[in-house]
Amino acid sequence: MHTYLDNNATTPMRKEVLEAMTPFFLEDFGNASSIHWFGQQAKAAIDEARQRVARLIGAQSTEIVFLSGGTEADNFAIRGIVESQKSKGRHIITSRIEHPAVLKTCEELEKQGFEVTYLPVNSDGLLAAAQVRDAIRPDTVLISIMHANNEIGTIQPLEEIGLIAAEAGIYLHSDGVQATGKIPIDVKALGVHMYSMSSHKLHGPKGVGALFVKKGTPLKSLVTGGGHERNRRAGTENVPGIVGFGMAAHMAREGLTEEVGRMGQLRDDMEARLKAAIPDISVNAENAPRLPNTSNIMVDYAEGEGLVISLDLKAIAVSTGSACSSGSMEPSHVLTAIGKTPDEGFGSLRISLSALTTSEDTDRLVETLPGIVDRLRQLSPYYKKSGI
Ligand code: PLP
Repeated sequence: MHTYLDNNATTPMRKEVLEAMTPFFLEDFGNASSIHWFGQQAKAAIDEARQRVARLIGAQSTEIVFLSGGTEADNFAIRGIVESQKSKGRHIITSRIEHPAVLKTCEELEKQGFEVTYLPVNSDGLLAAAQVRDAIRPDTVLISIMHANNEIGTIQPLEEIGLIAAEAGIYLHSDGVQATGKIPIDVKALGVHMYSMSSHKLHGPKGVGALFVKKGTPLKSLVTGGGHERNRRAGTENVPGIVGFGMAAHMAREGLTEEVGRMGQLRDDMEARLKAAIPDISVNAENAPRLPNTSNIMVDYAEGEGLVISLDLKAIAVSTGSACSSGSMEPSHVLTAIGKTPDEGFGSLRISLSALTTSEDTDRLVETLPGIVDRLRQLSPYYKKSGI
C-alpha cells in the first residue's frame, strides 16, 4: 500500500471528477463553438464548470478564463497586463518566494527592459504589506504576490496588499494555485484583479487551470486565434478537462470550512508527534498564517534527498523543496529567502496533505520517519550523538 503525502506537487483525481469527465471524451465529444447539438452540449458543460469555479472564489462566471494550468495563468496575468500598460510604466513588484512561473516570467521581462522589485520575506516567509507600499513607484504597473506558498504554506496578507494596490491604482495579481480549494477565498474581499488557479492541485485533472480576471481589467491576450474565452484565450476548449476542474471546484467548496479544520488538525497532530519522536527538527513557518495541509520540516544532520528516497523505499511519497525544482541540487529559493543556509536547506522535507489524506497515512509517516532519520544521521560526519 502506498502512502501519498506530496499533494502540493499534485493530487489524485477524485472518482466523481473522472465520472463527470468521461462522457465528454465519448458520446459528448462536440466542439463548444459548433452550433449543432453536440456543440451545445459541450458549451453548456463549460458554462456550468465556469460557474462552479467562479463560485469557489466569489467571482462572476464571466470573470473566469480557462487555460492550460497555473503556469499559463501566471504568464497570462503578468505578460498580459504589462503589455497593455507599458506606455504608463515598466516597473513590477513581486516577492522572492514566488513560484518559477512568476519569477522566470519576471526575469524574462527584465531582459525586455522592465524593472522588477523582488521583495524579501521574514523568517516565516511572510511579507509585510507596508513593504509593498514602500516599493511602489510612479511607473509601477503591476504587483504580483502569491496567496499561499507551495513549499512552506505561508499565507500572505493579500487583503491589506489589495487595499494598498487600490489606493495607488495599480493592478494586483496573485498566484492562488496552492490556496484554491484549501482555504475559503473571496477575490472581491482580497482586492485582486487577477487570480491564478490550477485544477490538478484540488483533485481535478492536469493541464487545465483558470485565471480570474476582474471585470474591466485590460489584459492583452497571449494566445491569438479564434474568439474563444471571450477573445481572451484562443484555442478549442479542453472540454473534459474543464468539466473535471468544475466538478473538483464544486466538491472542494462543499464542506470547505470543516475540511480546513480536519486537515489542520491532522497536520498539527503529525507535527507534534514528529517533534516528540525526532530530536533536532523544526517546522518552517510554524507560527505564520499557513495552509492547513502543508508542513515543511527542517531535519538537522540529514539530507532531504536521502530522506525522500528512504521514505519512497517504504512506499511513502513526500518531497524536498518544490517538485518543480527537485532533481536539481540547488537549494530551494524559498528556504534561502527565509534565511536558511544551503546546508540547512538540503535537510528539508515537505509533507503535504489533501482532502483524501487519512490519519492512517500520517500515522505511517510518524511511525516510519524516526528510524530513517536516525539511520541517516548515523552516517553523517556532522551528527554528534549526545554525550560524545
Ligand atoms: N504556482 C504555484 C504556487 C504552484 O505550486 C504551481 C505548481 O506547482 C504552479 C504555479 C504551476 O501550476 P501548473 O502545474 O498547473 O502549471
